[in-house]
Amino acid sequence: MCNFSRHIRTSRSWRNRVAGRSLVPGISAPKLEIDRQFPTEFTDNVASMRWDATTEKVLVNEAFKGLLGPSHRRTGVNLSELMTPPDISKLLEKLDSKRSPIAHDHGTFLCRLIGNDEKILWLETTICECSANEGNSYRYATFKDVTDRLTKELFFENFADSLPGIVFSYTVYPDSSHYFSYISIKTKEFFGIENKEFLANPDLAFDIIEPEDLPFVRERLAESKRTMTHWKAEYRTTVKGRTRWFEGTAIPKLQPNGSVTWNGITIAIDDRKNLELELKEVASKDYLTGIFNRRYLSEFLRDQSERFDRYQERSSVILIDIDNFKAINDEHGHDFGDLALRQFSELVSKNVRKVDTFGRMGGEEFLIVLPNTGIQSALKVGKKILKKTRSKLRTINGIDVALTFSAGISEFSADQTSANKVLKRADQLLYEAKSEGRNGIKTDG
Ligand code: GH3
Ligand code: MG
Ligand code: MG
Repeated sequence: MCNFSRHIRTSRSWRNRVAGRSLVPGISAPKLEIDRQFPTEFTDNVASMRWDATTEKVLVNEAFKGLLGPSHRRTGVNLSELMTPPDISKLLEKLDSKRSPIAHDHGTFLCRLIGNDEKILWLETTICECSANEGNSYRYATFKDVTDRLTKELFFENFADSLPGIVFSYTVYPDSSHYFSYISIKTKEFFGIENKEFLANPDLAFDIIEPEDLPFVRERLAESKRTMTHWKAEYRTTVKGRTRWFEGTAIPKLQPNGSVTWNGITIAIDDRKNLELELKEVASKDYLTGIFNRRYLSEFLRDQSERFDRYQERSSVILIDIDNFKAINDEHGHDFGDLALRQFSELVSKNVRKVDTFGRMGGEEFLIVLPNTGIQSALKVGKKILKKTRSKLRTINGIDVALTFSAGISEFSADQTSANKVLKRADQLLYEAKSEGRNGIKTDG
């Protein structure tokens, strides 16, 4: 395709360079002549040519002359003025029955011709064999002008390659077979993989997606197919150890044969995604202790509530309030109070499971959410943490503080499905623990 555009620009200089030279070994500049003996099926619409090896004349029909435009219509024009040496060589070789048998695909190939106004025509050329008069059999080349089609394809490719993403057309058949009918060369820049590798093996596009993100990408694709709406997905790919974020977006179209084709573009979103993740991290963390904040805990609790509704998945919460914290602040100052909050956060973080979520609700109040955990197991966790707090935070910075806390534990249940209700119950139990003298944990049942 690149050669195509180059030749459009240089047709005049090329013609000047090659004119009159001997182009093919043993053949000097064949001349075009109108052949009145052409079999009738060639005469009208199909531009055709026959090379006579004996006379070394190139015989063409009226339709072929039509391709050349008025300035070249005279007979006797030299073929070297109309075609490049490699094209002439290839054409004559295929027309020469002594040199090569006719290929299974009729030797279809592209060749170029200078037509009207020095414009290069791209001709799809097919070789065929016909019996002429007197039983002689001749080879003919027929030409189809595909310049418009190629120009459009070239324009599209140039356009697609100039976009800041990978342009693709992806089709899935009803039997789940799939392929890319087009994917732009940007795959090399983005993944270090040539686009032709994706054309040959569409699975590759999925193989490079991070296993954690792949189900989501596939789910969105299935949904897009089901609802015939936009496919859009953010996902990571890892190629040669390098992980990057991408966003793919495409519009599905149902084809008459039942297949669905998505035309779309994939762009790199590393910068945007990293910033987004950083902001999310900042927005979910407590500035003093670095553990999760109230906003994140609320969201997490809402998710747990949904999981209970949907799958009856049990989960418990431990609501913690440090005892007599005001006194610590009053006696040792606010900064010391901050330090105590940080040390307490660290201690709890070390004593909860990875699946548990621990954060600060505000002030000296904390929450642990324990997925897949009933009240009795949560109580064990609470007791362990209280014991550790008593022993490890008896002193902070050499100052005797004898830190303790009170806690209330409640669990999602049939009559307590919302996050608010679960929290409210934990708060009531916490209040009971405070009333009963602090330094203890209360649960239902
Ligand atoms: P109780 O056992 O009933 O919970 O008594 P308490 O003193 O812990 O409870 P109270 O609500 O009376 O006091 C909480 C104190 O926590 C008051 C407030 O100044 C302090 N506090 C809240 N947030 C922070 C903080 O970020 N840093 C520090 N140093 N202190 C804080
Ligand atoms: Mg409090
Ligand atoms: Mg308190």
